[in-house]
Amino acid sequence: MPLLKSWVASANDAAHPFPLNNLPYGVFSVDGDDPRCGVAIGDMILDMRAAEEAGLVRLGDAPLFDVPYWNDLMEEGPAVWAALRNRLTALLSQGAAEQEKLEPLLIAAEDAELHMPFAVSEYTDFYAGKNHAFNVGTMFRGPENALPPNWLHIPIGYNGRASSVVVSGTDVRRPWGQLKGPNDDQPRWAPCARFDIELEVGAIVGTPSDGPITVQEADDNIFGYVLLNDWSARDIQAWEYQPLGPFQAKATATSISPWIVTKLALAPFRCATPEREVELLEHLRDCGPMLYDIDLEVTMAPDGKDATTIARTNYKEMYYSAAQQLAHHATSGCPMNAGDLLGSGTISGSVKESRGSLLELSWGGKEPLTLATGEERSFIADGDTLTLKGAAKGDGYTIGFGDCTGTVRPALDDPFKR
Ligand code: CA
Repeated sequence: MPLLKSWVASANDAAHPFPLNNLPYGVFSVDGDDPRCGVAIGDMILDMRAAEEAGLVRLGDAPLFDVPYWNDLMEEGPAVWAALRNRLTALLSQGAAEQEKLEPLLIAAEDAELHMPFAVSEYTDFYAGKNHAFNVGTMFRGPENALPPNWLHIPIGYNGRASSVVVSGTDVRRPWGQLKGPNDDQPRWAPCARFDIELEVGAIVGTPSDGPITVQEADDNIFGYVLLNDWSARDIQAWEYQPLGPFQAKATATSISPWIVTKLALAPFRCATPEREVELLEHLRDCGPMLYDIDLEVTMAPDGKDATTIARTNYKEMYYSAAQQLAHHATSGCPMNAGDLLGSGTISGSVKESRGSLLELSWGGKEPLTLATGEERSFIADGDTLTLKGAAKGDGYTIGFGDCTGTVRPALDDPFKR
């Protein structure tokens, strides 16, 4: 499929992240007014509440865009998702009869503040990138025990906290915690000294389910994708992670990019998971290409200075697709809801420059990175801004995600010394 031409001129640039082929969904406000749903098109945002009120977008009897989140649309299901996309494509196409009516409903993106695009019902994070799991397992337990025996059979995950998910641009405060001390059996109470990122893609459940679902049904139920940074306190994690997995190490914050890129927009970029090393049990087997070819990168900028790209990889490095993760999540009968967020797990490629965490990039702090500013980093320093970027490259167009960025602020004074 080529670039679809829009009457919004900025959307017709082959390198622009938001052409007519994309149409990602967000929530915005201007000058502190009410946040409302918007669709990005080039450098503009279409005000969906206003478009619905004007009768330009009608998908049923009840309004869908009088709320500051996209969950109501998600609950309508795939036929309505497709109908909205078709309607928006027609309205914003070059030569559309409605152009004059729509022009006053466009807001310059540079004037808008972006908010959480959906209400996160629950948040689950997986550990389903094989290079990452092998690298971390090697550092924590040695190469012979790097992958636990279940790893090649199920996408391993843990239940995270929806309350900790924040939109890109939100500052992140360095946490205090119990850290593994110099002796393996003695912790100490201190600010995290090994604060890290995890480069991930988040899948958003649109259609609810109640009981086991097939991988195909899981894929059908997914609404869209965001970039996701699972901020991680490695020294807290090292002390607490056995036997039930990460807890406070992952509870400070998880940042997501502000635009939901729909599954429909990503359809041309579907690709297969890597070759299976052992055959999966039947209920988790691939039944079609359900990963996506999305270029990803991470930049680090110390205290407002020039950013350095510290990693480049691709979403297709995942061992398990989001559909397989969702199918596995529901095997026990676990109900899944519209707005459930599933983190892919850290995405690392096979070479050093493609690793999606500082833990791996600096190999546990043994091989610090040198930034363009000349500064060295093994983990995040106060004032550093970390940004995830993602884009699928089409024939003459780009499906961009919008940055997922956050700046780390210094730990507060000891919260228990008052
Ligand atoms: Ca993670």
